[in-house]
Amino acid sequence: MHQITKSNNLFEEAQKYIPGGVNSPVRAFKAVGGNPIFIKKAKGAFIFDEDGNEYIELINSWGPMILGHANSKIEEAVQKAISGSLSFGAPTAIEIEMAKTICEMVPSIEKVRMVNSGTEATMSAIRLARGYTGRSKVIKFEGCYHGHGDSFLIAAGSGAITLGEPNSPGVTKGTAQDTVTVPFNDVNKVHEAVRANKENVAAIIVEPVAGNMGCVLPAEGFLEGLREICNAEGIVLIFDEVMTGFRLSPSGAQGVFDVQPDITTLGKIIGGGMPVGAYGGKREIMDFVSPVGPVYQAGTLSGNPVAMAAGLAMLSQIKEDQTLYSDLALITAKLENGLQEGLDNLGLPYTINRIGSMISVFFTSEKVSNFEDAKKSDLNLFGQYFREMLKRGVYLPPSQFESWFISKSITPNLVDRIVEASNESLRVIHQ
Ligand SMILES: *Cc1c(COP(=O)(O)O)cnc(C)c1O
Repeated sequence: MHQITKSNNLFEEAQKYIPGGVNSPVRAFKAVGGNPIFIKKAKGAFIFDEDGNEYIELINSWGPMILGHANSKIEEAVQKAISGSLSFGAPTAIEIEMAKTICEMVPSIEKVRMVNSGTEATMSAIRLARGYTGRSKVIKFEGCYHGHGDSFLIAAGSGAITLGEPNSPGVTKGTAQDTVTVPFNDVNKVHEAVRANKENVAAIIVEPVAGNMGCVLPAEGFLEGLREICNAEGIVLIFDEVMTGFRLSPSGAQGVFDVQPDITTLGKIIGGGMPVGAYGGKREIMDFVSPVGPVYQAGTLSGNPVAMAAGLAMLSQIKEDQTLYSDLALITAKLENGLQEGLDNLGLPYTINRIGSMISVFFTSEKVSNFEDAKKSDLNLFGQYFREMLKRGVYLPPSQFESWFISKSITPNLVDRIVEASNESLRVIHQ
């Protein structure tokens, strides 16, 4: 039996001292019901909670653990770095190595600045785009997540085409005025928004493959359409590849779809599990960043030697492993096929979206190509499914609107176990 006594006790205790008991909201399981499990350790494809339960890991720290947990080369690199002190706040050689590696792996990046999180990367990227163009507005897409910066916590308002509305208390109307939110995969709406804000759009920011409304692929021509609009209107195109960077290919989604942004934001995998982010792009734009340019951006711990060591050990393994992405795609396709077969056998019409090692099962019979579609999912049913899967030792992201992340440690045998758990869970929630 699946005992979670210790986790429950820890959650009680945590809520006394930490808002909601967690340091990032999705961890609290509010979207799926029940209490979060507290993690003790993880290795390879498995994560272990405080009660000693073992789970097959499909969150993988929301992406970074693409090589599986406790990767020995990353751990060795970190241990070596630690012995030389944890931080200097001064330049180091390893930062050059990191920057060079990123520029080599992602050809659209000619220069790059390291930061400490994906949120910092996107906040800095739009400031840079505004500074570079001298314009104010940013266009983003419904259901895309770009971290918790004020400019991104904006919903499409009543005058959606020209100004948004705060999506969280604490975000001012003034800030919301400068963000325009349009539906994902809708180039026509982008055209409209650009026309309505003539000569005042600094940037279009997009997850080239959306992972934060569940996995949603770009429609044919969508990314190309954005590129054309940006070229025609002098707008900076930002691909937020915090999730897809080093996840879909060594050069991220831009390598897969062959569309080059002006600025790319990175995070998650780039830190190998340490808190790291980065933004980079065309030399001409990046040279607007201080100290060489006028756009201010800084960080006491940016380029931290331990974080750089972890990230570099991650990226060098990705570079060396010629079959990493084809292997990941193959194993995830096996998972997709197994899940689909299970749904078919039970006569359930749900929708699976997948690309490479990102996959989502939406509890809706309709095709999911934007946030409106994703929201048609039966969230209550997803919550039940999540809890049944957890009982059966499969640790899924605790929300319908998150992608599952497959790591290199997931074997065909483990895929069979996940599929079996899924079939049993589906049967239980539909009886
Ligand atoms: C996770 C994520 C972020 C935010 O990164 P943090 O490191 O959590 O601040 C931004 N953009 C995308 C696409 C993400 O997936």
